[in-house]
Amino acid sequence: MSDDTGTVTQNTPRNPVTAYPQPEQPPQDQSAPGLAQEMDPKPDHGEDTYVGANRLPDRVAVVTGADSGIGRAAAIAFAREGADVVLSYLPSEEADAQEVVALVEQAGRRALAVPGDLSQEQANLDLVQKTVDAFGRVDVLVVNAGKQTAVEDIAELTTEQFDQTFRTNVYALFWVTKAAVPHMQPGASIITTSSVQAYTPSPNLLDYATTKSAINTYSKALAQQLAPKGIRVNVVAPGPFWTALQVSGGQPPEARPEFGAQAPLGRAGQPAEIAGAYVHLACAESSYTTGATLSVTGGDPTP
Ligand code: NAD
Ligand code: MG
Repeated sequence: MSDDTGTVTQNTPRNPVTAYPQPEQPPQDQSAPGLAQEMDPKPDHGEDTYVGANRLPDRVAVVTGADSGIGRAAAIAFAREGADVVLSYLPSEEADAQEVVALVEQAGRRALAVPGDLSQEQANLDLVQKTVDAFGRVDVLVVNAGKQTAVEDIAELTTEQFDQTFRTNVYALFWVTKAAVPHMQPGASIITTSSVQAYTPSPNLLDYATTKSAINTYSKALAQQLAPKGIRVNVVAPGPFWTALQVSGGQPPEARPEFGAQAPLGRAGQPAEIAGAYVHLACAESSYTTGATLSVTGGDPTP
């Protein structure tokens, strides 16, 4: 089935089991943070399918990790829903990021690319300042950048990695939200990105899983603090998604071919399949939703 123009869209009915490639994925390896454009198969971020309906008219959205994966899917959807998009990513990801800049501009919206390392406090301040300089405010803030590096044995988990995972996943969340809130008006929306790992941690993701639990708790506390200001804070908790994070150390190489197979839907999710969760929480249709977690897991149970 297709829409009235004959085009397949995110709303075209389909069987979720067979809608996308199933394991096994071909063996592959990249050094972190990896590039979506070098993955096989290439993830679907909704480039060819997402059709907007003016749900974010003239909103200013900041998305961290917007170059690839879940953040890219959110950035594409936001632009097609009418938002201007500020893209945060690491400098080494410029090739992926420029593809997203082009897609945002093709949607008729402004894109502002702000490369930087958010594990450093100043980069978070710069990201917000550049947004305010260009657009005057922040309406939607998606905190999505993340570091995940699997380590089998605690004896091999270094303090350096533990620190860097916390700086990227937790400290940056504190720094970027603290910087952005003064530039948010009532109706603004903050969306953080947790994980099923917060609830059912894998033994080889000690540091990562712990940060995801911290993100949940931080988000629920901040939601209460900001509610009187009319600023909502919600969490998206993904299950297994086919992204650069997983093939650049997030999963050990031997786990990549079968990645996603254990989910009840039998496969990894594609970033396009989670974009709608971010759109829903970003736009005014969810005006009474704050402090919530929207789990998108392919059926893996969550609390
Ligand atoms: P991804 O690699 O495509 O995106 C993560 C992005 O984080 C990178 O593109 C990079 O731009 C950014 N990033 C990492 N370190 C950074 C730093 N120091 N400074 C600035 N940016 C930095 O992978 P993804 O899976 O789309 O990840 C997005 C989010 O989803 C992460 O928070 C991840 O933990 C979460 N998540 C992913 C999965 C999954 O299975 N892929 C599952 C649960 C949660
Ligand atoms: Mg990336």
